[in-house]
Amino acid sequence: MTETTAYGLSTRSVHAGERRDAEGAVHTPLYNHSTFAFDSTADLLDVVEGRKTGNLYTRYGLNPTIRATEAKLADLEGGEQALAFSSGMAAEAATFLAHCRTGGHIVCIGEVYGGTFELLGDNLPQVGITTTFLRADEVGRLPQVLTGRTRVVFFETPANPTLTVFDIAAISAQARAAGALTVVDNTFATPVNQNPLQHGADLVVHSATKYLGGHSDLTAGALIGPAELLAPVAMWRKNLGQVIAPETAFLLARSLRSLPVRVRAQNDAAAAVAAFLHTHPRVARSHYPGLATGEQKRIVDAQMRGGGGMLSAVLNADADQTAAVVDRLLLFAIAPSLGGVESLVTQPITTTHHGMDPAERAKRGIADSMIRLSVGLEDADDLIADLAQALDAD
Ligand SMILES: *Cc1c(COP(=O)(O)O)cnc(C)c1O
Repeated sequence: MTETTAYGLSTRSVHAGERRDAEGAVHTPLYNHSTFAFDSTADLLDVVEGRKTGNLYTRYGLNPTIRATEAKLADLEGGEQALAFSSGMAAEAATFLAHCRTGGHIVCIGEVYGGTFELLGDNLPQVGITTTFLRADEVGRLPQVLTGRTRVVFFETPANPTLTVFDIAAISAQARAAGALTVVDNTFATPVNQNPLQHGADLVVHSATKYLGGHSDLTAGALIGPAELLAPVAMWRKNLGQVIAPETAFLLARSLRSLPVRVRAQNDAAAAVAAFLHTHPRVARSHYPGLATGEQKRIVDAQMRGGGGMLSAVLNADADQTAAVVDRLLLFAIAPSLGGVESLVTQPITTTHHGMDPAERAKRGIADSMIRLSVGLEDADDLIADLAQALDAD
């Protein structure tokens, strides 16, 4: 099936991009092959010279399993094309290298994944690409920090771990007016809850390691957008050797077929957990897009279809008491990832924001007593009971 956009999201998750083979397999087989043969030199040249799309060499991404998974990813995000990578960081790095070049400037808004922070702050300056970081409360300064050299405006929404949402349409319009591309990390929301391209973003990046993979058993990344903007990124991916492995692409396609079912169940369970935490006496503050108020709620309503499976809470406790609450949880595993079927918990000061200066953390609203939860596919009642026993024990 190639033209599937008239169907609903669940139908597209199952059918988009799939190719039946001569054996009748019900979905695209795993082609582990590194290279593909042609009937004639003329046929080979058609692919090499770009007159036809076809299979050629797996590191180029020209492999049937990889291409089928990319077609599904593009369809789910409503983009023209997708590139699949060996990790989310690979997708980000190739995007920045392809679209910034030496002398280029990036604006990064709000909290971002620790690896992204390091890439922008430590690695890219070594090749002459610099970044201005704006805290969430400084987003109004975007027009002042955009310069003639700004090539990319980058942000996550909702952002980790404060679950702050950013207005994709407003930021994209400001970036476009300054001649910069808007790149949105849609890892937390997933295409089930939000399609940034519909709201004016130029490119969407994913750590497919999280919800898209969904089972904590693969590492992958994706970039989705117009073919014209992906072409230069594909060249970096090819020559840096960052393509997704065919086995991983096969597993990722397997996962994408159940993405809407999983994410909608996680939305519902997270909303129930957030409602419980919101009124618990041990909780000073809880953050969940589905419980946002004021301007944050306006943004959620304008661009999100569901609140997602991620939430955080600041406890009435010190750092050690918070660690004790975390350690008492039985169903939430202490682990620094998210988006899988098993619920996970982290204390951001011990993981994503471990290296950050405490004063800087405080400015960003990341308290010592903050916990971040990734709600899995367990029964919400069981998760709530587990949180209740952990919070009420002392
Ligand atoms: C995990 C994560 C990344 C990095 O992805 P990897 O697949 O680990 O390389 C980027 N952005 C967000 C929001 C993430 O959670």
